[in-house]
Amino acid sequence: MQIFENLESNVRSYSRSFPAIFSLARGSILLTDDGRKIIDFLAGAGALNYGHNNHRIRAAIAEYLASDAIVHGLDMATPAKLEFMETFSSIILRQRDMQYRFQFTGPTGANAIEAALKLSRKITGRQNVISFTRGYHGMSLGAIAASGNRFYRTGSAVPLSGVSFMPYDGYLGPAIDTADYLRKVLFDESGGIDRPAAILVETVQGEGGINVARNEWLRSIESIAKNIGALFIVDDIQMGCGRTGEFFSFECAALSPDIVVLSKSISGYGLPLSMLLIKEGLDLWQPGEHGGTFRGNNLALVAATAAINAYWRCRTFSEGIQRMGDLTRRRLDAIASRYGNGFSVRGRGMALGFDCQKPELAEVTARKAFEKGLIVERCGAVAEVVKILPALTIDLEILNQGLEIFEEALTEAMKQT
Ligand SMILES: *Cc1c(COP(=O)(O)O)cnc(C)c1O
Repeated sequence: MQIFENLESNVRSYSRSFPAIFSLARGSILLTDDGRKIIDFLAGAGALNYGHNNHRIRAAIAEYLASDAIVHGLDMATPAKLEFMETFSSIILRQRDMQYRFQFTGPTGANAIEAALKLSRKITGRQNVISFTRGYHGMSLGAIAASGNRFYRTGSAVPLSGVSFMPYDGYLGPAIDTADYLRKVLFDESGGIDRPAAILVETVQGEGGINVARNEWLRSIESIAKNIGALFIVDDIQMGCGRTGEFFSFECAALSPDIVVLSKSISGYGLPLSMLLIKEGLDLWQPGEHGGTFRGNNLALVAATAAINAYWRCRTFSEGIQRMGDLTRRRLDAIASRYGNGFSVRGRGMALGFDCQKPELAEVTARKAFEKGLIVERCGAVAEVVKILPALTIDLEILNQGLEIFEEALTEAMKQT
C-alpha cells in the first residue's frame, strides 16, 4: 500500500477504509492479491446491484467487443443505443405504464443531476431548487449545492447557491409532517423561499443515512411540486435499478416524477452510464445544449440491455429482492434489539442501515468487519450508520456469512469503544 500512499492523491477514500489490493471479483466475493476472500456489502456504492463481473452480462459485452461494433460514438445513433431504448421501453417503462424520453448525459451521476437541474431551470425560468436535509446528489457544483453534507460543501470553496433546503421526512421527529411545512412556506407570499424550478428528492437517502421517506410524504411532495409549478425530480441513482425491491424506488408510492435520474447500476456491470428519463412535453432542450464526450457509452448500453433482459422480464427477481431484504432486515433487527444501546435499523428492500448512534462505534465496526473479511461502508450525517448494501444477486449463504461477520465485528467494537 506504501506505493499508493506515495503516488496517489490524498483525496483517495475507499482505499483507506479497505486497505488491500483487490485483484479479482465474482458476484459478491472479492479476492485480494494476498489471497484473502472478502464479502462485499458495498456493491460499488450501489453501482454493482448485479454483482461483480456478472457472467450473464459479461457475455454480451465480450461478444460486442469482439465484433468491432462501435464503442465510442459520442451521442451518435448506434444499434446498441437503439436496442437499449427499445428494451428499456418495453420491459421497464411500458409494463409500468410510464412514458418518458431518454437523455444520455455524461457518465457520472452528478452530470445527470446537473442536466436535470439545468433543464428544470430552463423550463420554468426560475432559479431556486428545493432539496432536503441529508440529501446527496453528487460532487459537481450544481449537485453539491443541492447536497447537505458540510464537509463536501466546504470543499467546493465557492458560494453554492440556488438551492433551499427543507427538512426531509422524519427530520423533526415522527410528530411533524415536514411536507406541511414545505407547503406552508412555499405558498406564503412572505415565506422567504423563492418559487422553485424543481423539487429534488431521494425516496431513500443513501449517503444521508438510509433515511426512508414515507409514501404519503413523497406523494405530498409531488403534489406540492405540481401546485407550485415546479418539476418533481426523483434522484434514483442509488436507490433505483432494483435496490429497494422494485426497478424504480418510487413505484410503491405510485409517483410519476417529471424527471427520473438514473446512474450507478443502470449499466449493470459497473460501467459508467447515466441518464435522465424526461416526461413527454418537458424535453425543451435545444440540440447540443447539454453536451459531453462520453454520453451513452455503447459498451455500457450493451451491458444495460443484457441486465434488463436477464433480470427484469418477470417479477421473480424483484420478489427475490424483497424476500432477501425482509430476511436481512429481521436479522439486523434481532442484532439491534439483542445489544440495545439505542441501535436501530432502517431501510427498504436491500438498502439497509444499522444506526450505531455513535460514529466511533460505526467506524470500529466497519474496520473490524474488514479485518474479518467483510466490506461495509458508513453513511449518515456523521457516518454513524453502517450501510448494508449487498448485491441483489448475492447467495443466501454468503449474505448470512456477511451478517455473521457484521455481528461479530459490532460486538467486538462495542467492547472497545
Ligand atoms: C452516487 C450518487 C450521486 C452521484 O453520482 P456520481 O456518479 O458519484 O457522480 C448522486 N445521487 C445519489 C443519490 C447518489 O447515490
